[in-house]
Amino acid sequence: MDVELRAASSSSPGHFYAVTFKSDDKRVWVLCECAAGASGQFCKHRRAFISGDASLLWDDLDTEVLATLQAEPDLAPAVELLRLYDESLAQIEREKKGLKEREKALKSRFAVELLHGIALPL
Ligand SMILES: [Zn+2]
Repeated sequence: MDVELRAASSSSPGHFYAVTFKSDDKRVWVLCECAAGASGQFCKHRRAFISGDASLLWDDLDTEVLATLQAEPDLAPAVELLRLYDESLAQIEREKKGLKEREKALKSRFAVELLHGIALPL
């Protein structure tokens, strides 16, 4: 697989970033030249194109290339990894929500104790 798509830049209208999908017989790579992608972060461009989302395409002419990419068997490991990543992310979000609720309950309990008076040691 050797596919290149162009992702529209949201910070620099009219500019695009090349998003490259490559594979050999052992590995598949998904690279993006945006600032986030170049610094090793998981950017929205790679997410979009791995999942077949055409909304970030720079040019409608790439729609067919994106469809070709989606039909590539070598893309499957990236799609599966994204699915697992999203599951883990959702789990982290649930845990964060739970921690926020615990924090709120703790603050509330403390405020109530201050309001109602704290027992002095006998
Ligand atoms: Zn990117």
